[in-house]
Amino acid sequence: MNFDLTSEQEMILKTIREFADEEVAPGALDRDRNKEFPIEIFKKMADLGLMGLPFPEEYGGAGADTVSFAIVTEELSRACGSTGITYSAHISLGGAPLYLFGTEEQKQKYLVPICTGETFGAFGLTEPSAGSDAGGTRTTAVEKDGDYIINGNKCFITNASYAKHLALTAITGEADGKKEISAIIVPTDADGFKVIDNYEKMGLHASNTTELVLEDVRVPTEHLLGKKGEGFKQFLITLDGGRIGIGAMAVGIAQAAYEKAVQYAKERQQFGRSLSNFQAIQFKLADMAMKIDLARNMVYKAAWLKDQGRAFSKEASMCKLYASEICMEITDQAVQIHGGYGYMRDYHVERFMRDGKLTEIGEGTSEVQRLVIARHILSN
Ligand SMILES: Cc1cc2nc3c(=O)[nH]c(=O)nc-3n(C[C@H](O)[C@H](O)[C@H](O)COP(=O)(O)OP(=O)(O)OC[C@H]3O[C@@H](n4cnc5c(N)ncnc54)[C@H](O)[C@@H]3O)c2cc1C
Repeated sequence: MNFDLTSEQEMILKTIREFADEEVAPGALDRDRNKEFPIEIFKKMADLGLMGLPFPEEYGGAGADTVSFAIVTEELSRACGSTGITYSAHISLGGAPLYLFGTEEQKQKYLVPICTGETFGAFGLTEPSAGSDAGGTRTTAVEKDGDYIINGNKCFITNASYAKHLALTAITGEADGKKEISAIIVPTDADGFKVIDNYEKMGLHASNTTELVLEDVRVPTEHLLGKKGEGFKQFLITLDGGRIGIGAMAVGIAQAAYEKAVQYAKERQQFGRSLSNFQAIQFKLADMAMKIDLARNMVYKAAWLKDQGRAFSKEASMCKLYASEICMEITDQAVQIHGGYGYMRDYHVERFMRDGKLTEIGEGTSEVQRLVIARHILSN
């Protein structure tokens, strides 16, 4: 067994760590305050060839592996959770379904501009009455004269304001008395398509989270992504990969909170000594370090299994569940170690706590991850 990163992964880590420290972290507090999408950061990431990182070079990608994608997502999230989720959704929700299920023509037309950074990737699954129970989709796509006519609503969709097109799920018919759900690629400037960006969120203020309204939106039937009726299966596969991204995001936010806590514990003096001299504080820091190490190993393992072409669905759920739960514990304890200052925005750790909460909710809540893991365990 080898726990070392490859030389290519090491190089990507070095590049993204420097980039995150120099370009992403400095403005994170202001972007959070001003709800400012990090568009300039992503232009620079496109110049570095990072926007299509895990996709083949023939589609404008960098041909890197999933471990590298996890490394980039972790480092961005360590600097700014909003930048981290934007990147993770761009790659694993926007690009991945096109790469996995698209025709060659669809990949050239829709995946290439995602990889070059010309557009952001997004994915429309969740609806007001279909969250954890994503099969409860109500959006419909009715076939007529060679077109799909789409009507419905999606909620909480990441990146859609900055996406020129996105894949969304809709009911395309009925088979054996069951709803037939398919994925369809829809241009966001199509007539009848509204992207609304006015949620007031707890955290991730610099990320773009939108509501989609589709009223008689017409797209040619060639916009079907993958096979008709396989939309449900396709999004389960897409989410497996996405969970590695959210796991990495959680590790990055936890790491940022831990680093701030260590620094503060060394600097802050009470009772004539620095906080780091108190065993109660040392034990908190030791637990943080141990849990982050374990969560990162779990993320890397799930990513590695995916890269080997092996089954990774259970490990993706496990890494997402564990990393998101320790992220909440660690950000909470980082605020605690900062005392009253931790409650103040300028000290960053309260932002980490607000941003981190999403990792327990997005791409399947912790309860859903436990359902997925239990299903894997019990089906053997
Ligand atoms: C910032 C943000 C970004 C997002 N980005 C996207 C995106 O890009 N694309 C997209 O499609 N979606 C996106 N989502 C949606 C996200 O995936 C859903 O919010 C999530 O899946 C939960 O669905 P829900 O909010 O409807 O909660 P619900 O499903 O209503 O769940 C409410 C509670 O009930 C629990 N629960 C539900 N069912 C069960 C069960 N069977 N057993 C036990 N407990 C259960 C849940 O775990 C949760 O605690 C995003 C959400 C947020 C907040």
